[in-house]
Amino acid sequence: MNETRAARVTPRTLATTCCIAGGGPAGMMLGFLLARAGIAVIVLEKHADFLRDFRGDTIHPSTLEIMHELGLLDGLLKLPHQKVPAIRAQFGDVAVPFADFSHLPTRCKFIAMMPQWDFLDFLAGAAKRYAGFTLMMRTAAGAPIEEGGRIVGLRAADDDGAFEIRADLVVGADGRHSTLRDSIGAAVESLGAPMDVLWFRLTRRAGDSDETVGRFDAGRIYIMINRGEHWQCAFVIAKGSFDAIRARGLPEFRDDVAALAPFVRDRVGEIASWDDVKLLTVAVDRLTRWYRDGLLCIGDAAHAMSPIGGVGINLAIQDAVAAANLLTARLRERRVATDDLRRVQRRRELPTRWTQRLQLVVQNRVITRILGSSGTLAPPLLVRLLARHPVLRRIPARLVGIGIRPEHVRI
Ligand SMILES: Cc1cc2nc3c(=O)[nH]c(=O)nc-3n(C[C@H](O)[C@H](O)[C@H](O)COP(=O)(O)OP(=O)(O)OC[C@H]3O[C@@H](n4cnc5c(N)ncnc54)[C@H](O)[C@@H]3O)c2cc1C
Repeated sequence: MNETRAARVTPRTLATTCCIAGGGPAGMMLGFLLARAGIAVIVLEKHADFLRDFRGDTIHPSTLEIMHELGLLDGLLKLPHQKVPAIRAQFGDVAVPFADFSHLPTRCKFIAMMPQWDFLDFLAGAAKRYAGFTLMMRTAAGAPIEEGGRIVGLRAADDDGAFEIRADLVVGADGRHSTLRDSIGAAVESLGAPMDVLWFRLTRRAGDSDETVGRFDAGRIYIMINRGEHWQCAFVIAKGSFDAIRARGLPEFRDDVAALAPFVRDRVGEIASWDDVKLLTVAVDRLTRWYRDGLLCIGDAAHAMSPIGGVGINLAIQDAVAAANLLTARLRERRVATDDLRRVQRRRELPTRWTQRLQLVVQNRVITRILGSSGTLAPPLLVRLLARHPVLRRIPARLVGIGIRPEHVRI
């Protein structure tokens, strides 16, 4: 087999060094890094393009730092984006500053709001410059191929039918509903989530505020993210309550939105039907083991993240960087051992556990309480402290913007 390029062994069998299932942030970043290091890699993405709405569009300072280390930052920031240098939260009628990114020890002291499809397209474009990179869109990864107790490739299907890919390493980067994680045969620790999220968009007009605002009211949480021409709106609901909300009717839902953000009352009619409202179910879980011989899971496939803090993309990217740092030399030698895969989990497990633990604290202490409350809502003590002492706002900024044990490109 050619060292750097995926090879066609038979008309319906390909061979490569690393085959990645899933072209989300984890899969695309790992694909890019391996190809850049001269490793033959195939990334499979079941959709025809990256153009899906509301995939989470936050690019955090630590991800921007990685893009800088890769020499890609200037190009990335030429794409349309909005900079979020601080986060403010509104409890009832009281607005409180919550996180301030301006003191972070990173090149970019802001979160870049950019459609995820632009980010993934950009990464794909950068990766395609390397001979070893193959991206197969509209191609679904299927079951792994096992021989002698080791995963040696996987089955896949595109418009022309089923085929096989043989690989030294298969990576499951296929997200929260990963099918590859099942093949590892490890237990899934489900940590629970009290909420789901309804996403929709409303026009943004001249005279609207520039800021991304989270509004917390009795029984309701509503976030509006400035996306230039439109507001990306997230209405957080108690888990499993969407059917009851639909049964109440669309006019009532529009009224709820207008009550939380009165300045959009004139345009809530843009939510013309329930088809304009997308339900995203929230899950927080993790595999007890992220690997088996020949197969590794990273990103949400290894640990589904809550949307709290908007850190899931960042963690997925960090996993990809850690995996590339730890595995490139072994992939080049064509000698990836199970111990190498164990090292990736060991490296990334602590940040994952701590981040999920913090998300659970917010879910259980703040979100559950707000969704269950009916009286006037006052900011919790912690939030009041953040409002009173600007220096404290650097702590949530650091946790959200950089996270725990940030990775750097070492290959
Ligand atoms: C409601 C909600 C809001 C969120 N908001 C944010 C946010 O604002 N910011 C943030 O950082 N995180 C957010 N998250 C979390 C974030 O979406 C994930 O943590 C992150 O996308 C994980 O990246 P990933 O690459 O591991 O997986 P994914 O982004 O899920 O990517 C997996 C990819 O694999 C593809 N795929 C799946 N199965 C197959 C298959 N069999 N064959 C081929 N391809 C396949 C999928 O099409 C997808 O492109 C949110 C999560 C939820 C639930």
